[in-house]
Amino acid sequence: MIPETKICRRCLLEEAERGDILASVREKVEKLPPADRCSEEEYRARLDACLGCGSLSAGLCLKCGCYVEFRAAVKQMKCPNPADRRW
Ligand code: SF4
Repeated sequence: MIPETKICRRCLLEEAERGDILASVREKVEKLPPADRCSEEEYRARLDACLGCGSLSAGLCLKCGCYVEFRAAVKQMKCPNPADRRW
């Protein structure tokens, strides 16, 4: 019998236990020039907004296909949903 794999559709990568992808995303965030990165406070506020959004699926934004833990780190990025822009 194949064990059932649960996917947390309303989770960030860090909560969905996708450490493999999360490590890669964090590496990309760390390579951003500091001037292009959000403050930690802004980053967390953006991720909190994503957590309340129906377009979040296991860390992925279904509106743009980005991992939100990367997209939210980039200062000049915006939430890609013009109908319900949350940040
Ligand atoms: S649509 Fe905006 S708030 Fe929703 S998951 Fe994507 S980036 Fe986050």
